Amino acid sequence: MRWPVALLGMALALAAPACPGSDRPGAGQEEVLSRVQDWAGPQAALADSLWKHPELGYLEHDASALMQDRLREAGFRVESGVAGMPTAFVARAGRRGSGPVIALLAEMDALPGMAQAAEPVLSPVPGQDAGHACGHNLFAAGSIGAARAIAQWLEAGGHEGEVRVYGTPAEEGGSGKVFMVRAGLFDDVDVVLHWHPSGTNSATQATSLANISGKFRFRGTAAHAAIAPERGRSALDGVEAMNHMANMLREHVPDGTRIHYAITDGGRAPNVVPAAAEAYYYVRHRDARVVRDVFARLQAAAEGAAMGTGTQVGFEQLGGVHGLLPNDVLGRVLDRALRGVGGVGYSPAEAEFAKQLQQSFDRAPAVESAIQVEPYRSDEHGLASTDVGDVSQVVPTAGLSTATWVPGTPAHSWQAVAASGMSIGHKGALNAASALAIAAVELFTHPELVAQARAEFEERRGADDAYRPLLEREAPPLDYRRLD
Ligand SMILES: [Zn+2]
Ligand SMILES: [Zn+2]
Repeated sequence: MRWPVALLGMALALAAPACPGSDRPGAGQEEVLSRVQDWAGPQAALADSLWKHPELGYLEHDASALMQDRLREAGFRVESGVAGMPTAFVARAGRRGSGPVIALLAEMDALPGMAQAAEPVLSPVPGQDAGHACGHNLFAAGSIGAARAIAQWLEAGGHEGEVRVYGTPAEEGGSGKVFMVRAGLFDDVDVVLHWHPSGTNSATQATSLANISGKFRFRGTAAHAAIAPERGRSALDGVEAMNHMANMLREHVPDGTRIHYAITDGGRAPNVVPAAAEAYYYVRHRDARVVRDVFARLQAAAEGAAMGTGTQVGFEQLGGVHGLLPNDVLGRVLDRALRGVGGVGYSPAEAEFAKQLQQSFDRAPAVESAIQVEPYRSDEHGLASTDVGDVSQVVPTAGLSTATWVPGTPAHSWQAVAASGMSIGHKGALNAASALAIAAVELFTHPELVAQARAEFEERRGADDAYRPLLEREAPPLDYRRLD
């Protein structure tokens, strides 16, 4: 076998921790790693195709089709348009037998207003709006690279088990995965692994906040604000009264509750009593029950505000996700795998790119820190929210991050778009694919780990184990980005 020196180094580093309780080097892991490496070029090309043609939530038609093509050509059986979402798909490979089903997630949507060239300085792309500011082009390509290698390893070794890729649209505010969970698409899955682009390499498992979000639309009566104010009923008054009550509510909710709003329509002209006004609200807390309770009180405040101002109010829920249920058994499997692969090393040109890009930050970690893997921690308290949360409520789930971005880069920034479209992003995604593939092989060859992960999942989920989605709207908001 002819391996590049770096790959050989990775494989050797892997050998020791690869098989817990055994002295046998992780031969399967070396094999799957070389298969990931074999597809490094096409993986980067797939990432670039998505990056050059960024598509917004539920509009990812070309991205989804390309992803499915790359999976079909590797022998995956693809079911597309699942759960009422044209761009969602489930791809399956392997022969289940008595083996587990391991699913990898693949997000694909871009963000509006984030177009940026693959340059280390702010460079909007003329005529383009969207950009891959969350690196989902890498997310998609890395998960597919890992899944292809795992499928080949399953097939070549005659191993029992199934690997799947879930093409999950509209992560950015569309709650795509929630509709897939609700449709039962994860019901026969044993383990879900995922990853996310980042400025660091880490398999730390963190919780996230559950949330409910939606728009309160007030309707009043327009009138001349000076000549006939008594004939008007201000919808903006409704919004302001509601916001006032929400701000008083803050003192009387459980610690750790987050309530935030934006007035998304406050009227247009001060000399017209606004007939329409709108506030967009989020309520978040670690505990979904608190979110439900506080949101119900917020809805009561909206109704009270409408009553008091002589207006009417309607509510449309837009999002609702559960918090992440961490899994330490799976987290440690991912951490071992990630440590075997290591961090991202830069060529001189990449180091130069990184240093130049970092000049746009007030302060940033050393460029060289991209090579480090962060210490593992479990049960960190995260303050973000993600629709992976709902997946983790029904299947043992864990994820990792790799340094696809220059250290110090926040998600949803032009700096994230820039690195996601060049070799630094490709390297990070290749490391993610390698770590996911190694972790999957460890799980396929050590069924006791899958059983332990399930036991931990059931213990954490507790007696009240029925999944109840926080998102109550019937159909996916397929047009939510068309309105932007
Ligand atoms: Zn994002
Ligand atoms: Zn993201």
